[in-house]
Amino acid sequence: MNEMFCFQCEQTAMCKGCTGKAGVCGKSAEVANLQDQLLGALIGIAGDRSADKLVIEGLFATITNVDFDPKDITSMKRVWSMLVVWKTYKH
Ligand code: SF4
Repeated sequence: MNEMFCFQCEQTAMCKGCTGKAGVCGKSAEVANLQDQLLGALIGIAGDRSADKLVIEGLFATITNVDFDPKDITSMKRVWSMLVVWKTYKH
């Protein structure tokens, strides 16, 4: 996917949101979309106290300029997705 929408920080384009192929900070559309998916997975496991540390780690990875490597975000997303499945079947 080559398009993105991100408005998570004060640098956001025209105070409305970064769109297109990359943000003002250099975040690519690929990374922005992977971060959105990661956040979705984090929401899925939020509230499970045994996953608190992992949730914090995942949230930190989405902060502006922390990690723009799509491979890192993809591997985290896989872990979170597995945890969502685990949580679903645990309850
Ligand atoms: S994090 Fe980057 S892409 Fe997102 S709003 Fe800020 S400058 Fe734009």
